[in-house]
Amino acid sequence: MLSIKEWQKKITKYAIDHGFNWIPADIDTMLLRIHSEVSEASEAARDENAGELAEEMADIFIRLVNACEVMGIDLEAEVQKKHRKNLNRDMLHGRKRK
Ligand SMILES: [Mg+2]
Repeated sequence: MLSIKEWQKKITKYAIDHGFNWIPADIDTMLLRIHSEVSEASEAARDENAGELAEEMADIFIRLVNACEVMGIDLEAEVQKKHRKNLNRDMLHGRKRK
């Protein structure tokens, strides 16, 4: 089982090997690509296509870890940091249930 950091390296190597040489200045485009995968996942969910939904969720992860690697972000460390922060948040993050 790979760590998130290892996935960042492996997926980014694959991207570069296949001609996707993203640089930090491409962050807007990389974020749009992530958004596109989220839209595809939403469509799969709407269509109740569990297999397609799972694949699109993987695409989101792949795009995300690639963008993080390009931007020099250690996603695993950031997730740990944010999760610790979230543990101190109120129920529903202070919002009232509808
Ligand atoms: Mg996709």
